[in-house]
Amino acid sequence: MSTSTNTPLRLGSVGPAVADVRARLDALGFAGDDDHAVAAERYDAGLERAVRAFQQARGLVADGMVGPETFGTLDGARWRLGDRILLHTPGHLLHGDDVSELQQRLNGLGFSAGRVDGRFGADTERAVRGFQHAYGLPGDGSVGPDTLRALSDLRRSVSGGSAVGLRERERVRRSGHNLSGRVVVLDPGHGGPEPGAEGNGLREADVVLDLARRIEGRLTAIGVDVLYTRSHDTCPSEEDRAALANQAGADVLLSLHCDSQDQPEARGVATFFFGSDRTHAWSAVGEHLADLIQREVVARTGLANCRSHARSWALLKQTRMPAVRVEAGYLSHPSDAARLCDPAFLDVLAEAVLVSLQRLYFGEDDTATTGVLRLGDLRAYVASQR
Ligand SMILES: [Zn+2]
Repeated sequence: MSTSTNTPLRLGSVGPAVADVRARLDALGFAGDDDHAVAAERYDAGLERAVRAFQQARGLVADGMVGPETFGTLDGARWRLGDRILLHTPGHLLHGDDVSELQQRLNGLGFSAGRVDGRFGADTERAVRGFQHAYGLPGDGSVGPDTLRALSDLRRSVSGGSAVGLRERERVRRSGHNLSGRVVVLDPGHGGPEPGAEGNGLREADVVLDLARRIEGRLTAIGVDVLYTRSHDTCPSEEDRAALANQAGADVLLSLHCDSQDQPEARGVATFFFGSDRTHAWSAVGEHLADLIQREVVARTGLANCRSHARSWALLKQTRMPAVRVEAGYLSHPSDAARLCDPAFLDVLAEAVLVSLQRLYFGEDDTATTGVLRLGDLRAYVASQR
């Protein structure tokens, strides 16, 4: 097509190449005027305006003509990260918006891909290798499904331009598969003079302490050190609870709560992890653990799925380890409450939490099926992998 020659397409040009440019701009949302139905193959004033707008948006010289540079940029704009495998092909560099997106993400994670120019050159390849190495992937420097998945897992921590999320996740990965020897802080909500939510004859502080003891029993049986943020008759502040977990150098904090509401139909389980849209700060591991607990609890208990959510509550924000708050059921809902006063149900909840913790440390090797395996099965699996 004529765009490969030195003659740019411009106002007055006619032919299929013009129709091609028009279609590409349309697809990107740079539509010309609404009179473009007249002749797609004619480079009219509306198309010229659309070209200028596109050039301006892309930092190109806004001359309203389509030469090799503008056409190259237009051609690259159709690619989204994940559409194709990206790799360094010296002599004829892959280019496109997907490469720009990759470069932005790598730079944001602290792996310098150099200038974000949408060209997969040597710098980009070096940055990909660095990322793969840090993440424990084979460092082949090409961006295929595994590397894409790793990048996408880190999506939100990347947007803050910090490598904190990556380091946090990497620490979990490197720490191995075993739960034994770890320190888990259990934080039963409220306590002492603060009963928390009440409903159907139940007090939240009592229910979550009972649940915590069931989790503790299972954890200590496999060699985990368990600490409590409170006793039966105390109610420390959220700040003090976070400080305790930080001082203990805990690996994980689990905050246990139940909910209650005036609307009697409110029911189900929700989990919360640290995340703030305003500051773009995010705990990737916290989110992962919250998702695991959410899925395991729902699969095992059939409690309604109220999903996992990012929150910047003091306890989640001030803890330096992955922290998850579980709101396990509504005391105000008759059937949730009936289940929460059943010891066998609390045992199922405790088992779900424990399996989630184990799966957290499986990391990339986690092939377990949600809600199916019991802890014994998971430990056998880990043993078989050594
Ligand atoms: Zn509570």
